[in-house]
Amino acid sequence: MDDCIFCKIANGVIPSATVYEDEEFRAFLDLGPASKGHTLIVPKKHAKDVTELDQETAGKALVLAGKIGEAMKKGLGCTGFNVVANTGVSAGQTIFHFHMHVIPRYDDGEKIVEWVPGSNTDEERAEILDAIRSAL
Ligand code: 5GP
Ligand code: ZN
Repeated sequence: MDDCIFCKIANGVIPSATVYEDEEFRAFLDLGPASKGHTLIVPKKHAKDVTELDQETAGKALVLAGKIGEAMKKGLGCTGFNVVANTGVSAGQTIFHFHMHVIPRYDDGEKIVEWVPGSNTDEERAEILDAIRSAL
């Protein structure tokens, strides 16, 4: 993917503030951090989003998110972290090379990944279940 910026960053063609690197992944600081330490985990092999990941890459990415999050707690003093993979324009994805955000959360920090809980009737839930299950 010659025109993909995250292919270039992950493979070291464009420099980045690298937190971690191995043969398959690079994790680097987000240019526009939501909180101090906001890191992106990016596989070196191009996949547009989570729907194109193989099982091994997906598993390793999530395990790596846990390790980096723990390091953030020890090193930066955050008390939690959000692991987020925006998928599709409507979900806020702007770079179409899969990446996982690891966003440190601090006790006195702003709310970042939050939503107002809604509700469903039993009938709505049944329709929703049918729609998703029949498409799987
Ligand atoms: P998305 O909105 O696709 O889930 O996340 C893309 C993220 O990449 C954003 O948080 C944005 O700040 C970050 N970003 C975009 N371009 C660059 C870049 O060139 N370098 C780095 N380090 N982060 C970038
Ligand atoms: Zn790419």
